[in-house]
Amino acid sequence: MEKELIKDLKNLVGKDKIHSYIEDRFCYAYDATNNFFLPDVVVIPRSTEDVVKVVKYASGKNIPVVSRGLGSGYTGGSVPIKGGIVISLEQMNRIVEINQQKKYAVVESGVVASDFAEEVKAHGLFYPPDPTSLEYSTLGGNVAECAGGLRGRKYGTTKDYVLGLEFVTAEGNVIRTGILSSEDDDLYDLESMLIASEGTLGVITRIAFRLTPIPPYSETVLAGFEKMEDAAQVVSDITAAGVVPSALEFIDGDTLECVMGYITVDFIQKSEAVLLIEPEGEKEEVQSDMKKILEICEKNNATSIKSAETKDEKEKLWQVRRSSSAALLRLAPTKVNEDVCVPPSQLPNLVKGLKEIGQKYNVTINTFGHAGDGNLHVNIMCDRNNPEEMERVEKAVEKIFEVTLKLGGTLSGEHGIGITKSKFLKDEVGETGIQIMKKIKSAFDPQGIFNPGKIFPEN
Ligand SMILES: Cc1cc2nc3c(=O)[nH]c(=O)nc-3n(C[C@H](O)[C@H](O)[C@H](O)COP(=O)(O)OP(=O)(O)OC[C@H]3O[C@@H](n4cnc5c(N)ncnc54)[C@H](O)[C@@H]3O)c2cc1C
Repeated sequence: MEKELIKDLKNLVGKDKIHSYIEDRFCYAYDATNNFFLPDVVVIPRSTEDVVKVVKYASGKNIPVVSRGLGSGYTGGSVPIKGGIVISLEQMNRIVEINQQKKYAVVESGVVASDFAEEVKAHGLFYPPDPTSLEYSTLGGNVAECAGGLRGRKYGTTKDYVLGLEFVTAEGNVIRTGILSSEDDDLYDLESMLIASEGTLGVITRIAFRLTPIPPYSETVLAGFEKMEDAAQVVSDITAAGVVPSALEFIDGDTLECVMGYITVDFIQKSEAVLLIEPEGEKEEVQSDMKKILEICEKNNATSIKSAETKDEKEKLWQVRRSSSAALLRLAPTKVNEDVCVPPSQLPNLVKGLKEIGQKYNVTINTFGHAGDGNLHVNIMCDRNNPEEMERVEKAVEKIFEVTLKLGGTLSGEHGIGITKSKFLKDEVGETGIQIMKKIKSAFDPQGIFNPGKIFPEN
């Protein structure tokens, strides 16, 4: 079967785009989780036409098709758990147009997010969504997961910038929406269904994004706290005061300690928690916001406050946050990362709940994330080769989701459902929610060839 599949695909799109050796397939079998499943073959298309040919073929033979950006996903979304064809969009990476006057851009879906942000900046404009993974994730992956980022509190997430999509349907037809289409906009909004669909409804091939002017001014501060609850209270108080910084990031003390051993940080002392806060906008407004922010930090017992005086210092403060994820691996070889989200006012309760869960199941929980949105990355540091520990980790994860939902939160702030969270989906959206989503899925993909086994719990 495999031989015929590979021969057919080579005939359809050219043999240079087909990768079937085991060592090639290995490179497309994983993402940032601990899941590993080999695809039967990897196709690296160069155009929408290539994608159409592959999907039409797969549809005719009922073969699974898994879209892949750069595999940085945290929920197993791009892992081909049922084998089949991985379509890696990595070489559909052209920035097609940046329109300075009308402030929009059109890209192929395999463009790396940081390349896009840089190019947009060089054109005097700004693309706000900035996932921490922007240097190793694609814009297609960002749309398919509705990626959030460090500036999400003020600017929103990827969905707030999509102006149009081009995607290939399960029958191999091409649909264009929004400004990429000449059709009337006053119809069913297919575009918003594709956003966060995790490769289950179509292969996204082109995206049009809204751009904004570059914010003229910003200030950055890193504040340390002796008690984690104090830092969480600052987040809640800043929200209550109506101040909307572009970044309001939280890092717990153990993570900070790892960072301190990972990069040179001589401007902050050991604390149980730190907040990186950055208001951005017109100078007067930013200065007034920063005054309020500093007052709130002091009121909540900040033990250290470091304001960036220069561009270099600002970069150093950001380095603390950006290196948190990598630095944690100093603690243990395996990181089980869950991104949960609660209303910002519930952050103190979430932080308290996580502490109790860590103690109850005797697991090491490290937390950092986009606290301004109530979105925390909860990392359980463990060793996947220790089955007894992994059993406790699994129980702790279940409890984390339970606490999150009780606090009015959601299972996924930005990483999606994939395979790692599918068994908890019902707790969040209920049986009716799942049934409606399944009907949408089968309307787009009646045979179920796109990313099978994802999002929906399997019996
Ligand atoms: C250290 C680290 C930090 C991270 N920080 C953040 C963060 O701050 N914010 C955040 O939101 N996420 C973050 N992530 C998660 C991840 O980077 C995002 O989910 C990202 O959007 C995935 O992009 P990707 O190109 O790697 O997609 P992949 O991992 O390859 O795929 C992700 C999902 O999208 C689907 N997909 C990919 N491309 C397409 C396409 N063209 N058409 C249809 N479906 C497609 C796949 O099938 C899969 O379901 C982080 C991950 C890591 C490892």
